[in-house]
Amino acid sequence: MDFSLSHEQRAFCESVRRFAEDHLAAGALARTLSDDFPWDVAAKMAAQGLLGITIPERDGGVGGTLIDAVLAMEQVALVCPRSADVMQAGNFGAIRTFSEYANATQKQKYLPDLLAGRRIISVAMTEPDAGSAITELTTSAKPDGNGYRINGSKIFTTHSKEAMVFLVYVRFGAGANGIGSVLIERDAAGFTLGKPSRFMNGELWQQLYFDNVYVPKENVLLPAGGFKKQILGFNAERIGNSARSLALGRLAFNIAKEHAENRKQFGRRLSEFQGIQWKFAEMTIKLEAAQLLLYRAAVGASDGLPAALETAIAKCYCNRTGFEVANEAMQILGGLGFSEESLVQYCVRRTRGWMIAGGSIEMMLNRIAEGVFERRFPQRSHEYIRAVQ
Ligand SMILES: Cc1cc2nc3c(=O)[nH]c(=O)nc-3n(C[C@H](O)[C@H](O)[C@H](O)COP(=O)(O)OP(=O)(O)OC[C@H]3O[C@@H](n4cnc5c(N)ncnc54)[C@H](O)[C@@H]3O)c2cc1C
Repeated sequence: MDFSLSHEQRAFCESVRRFAEDHLAAGALARTLSDDFPWDVAAKMAAQGLLGITIPERDGGVGGTLIDAVLAMEQVALVCPRSADVMQAGNFGAIRTFSEYANATQKQKYLPDLLAGRRIISVAMTEPDAGSAITELTTSAKPDGNGYRINGSKIFTTHSKEAMVFLVYVRFGAGANGIGSVLIERDAAGFTLGKPSRFMNGELWQQLYFDNVYVPKENVLLPAGGFKKQILGFNAERIGNSARSLALGRLAFNIAKEHAENRKQFGRRLSEFQGIQWKFAEMTIKLEAAQLLLYRAAVGASDGLPAALETAIAKCYCNRTGFEVANEAMQILGGLGFSEESLVQYCVRRTRGWMIAGGSIEMMLNRIAEGVFERRFPQRSHEYIRAVQ
């Protein structure tokens, strides 16, 4: 057992950190206050080989491992937390499920732009009546000629404002086995977006409406029966979500540490008060433990996608740690931490969202409990099951 990074991994971290310091440090605060996706950052990351890290070289990716992508994410987020969104979109999000299951024609059509940082693919699964209970989604795909007609609606889609293509979970038939996914382009006839709404974390999202949208057969990513595969792919998204949570917690910690070493009250530095020292000690325990859980889940996936149970444990603990540490860091900075002059309030707002997004803390706990008792615990009520039968 070895808990340290290899020589190559340390060198990789240093090179990503240098890139981030040189190209992303300036403007990091301004980026957190802007609604615009940082396309300039995406282009620079593509040129640096930071997009598609885990996608095979034959598909235009870098051919690295999941832990490589996690290490890169950490180094970027520690310098520019908003740029971590670019890392997520280009390495862990819908792009990962897409690259795992797309056929050669689909890859040829979409991957070059996605890997060049010119375009984004978003995942659209949540519906007004299907959140945690995602298998209750109703957006339908009905056969029509050489394709399908899509009807339904999605909410909370990240990057709804800028994605060129959406990986949309749809229902081809009844039950969980009837679920699959299709690729719908932004300009498809019958596809409209509602007015922008804002999450507390600053992100804009728009409701997606599919009104008899025609999707040719070539744009089916996974047919009926593909739900399990989609969730396997989604575990990569959860690792990215965990890495961002943890990195933003650590960034807030670093800022608070520097502040505590310089700020004086009552004639002493904040770091000299034991009440403040213990906050840092508690934060350190959480950060270190979360990092080990994250690395374990990512290293275990070096040949493919991460395991569900290890991912759930990592996500749950990284999400909590990221938020709790960022929140405590804010307390240590006092009014400054609560101000938009500091990145810390941004870290608090972003980490809070990831406790809900990508499978909430509670859904991760449900999955972990299934691992403990080695059995499934269906969440549906008997009344509901009777009603749909
Ligand atoms: C920042 C952010 C980004 C997002 N990005 C996307 C995206 O890109 N694409 C997309 O499709 N969706 C996205 N979502 C939506 C997200 O996936 C859902 O919000 C999430 O799955 C929870 O669904 P819900 O909001 O409907 O809450 P609900 O499912 O209604 O749950 C409400 C509360 O009840 C708890 N709960 C529900 N069921 C159980 C249970 N069985 N046991 C215990 N507790 C339970 C939940 O944990 C939660 O606390 C995003 C959300 C956020 C906040």
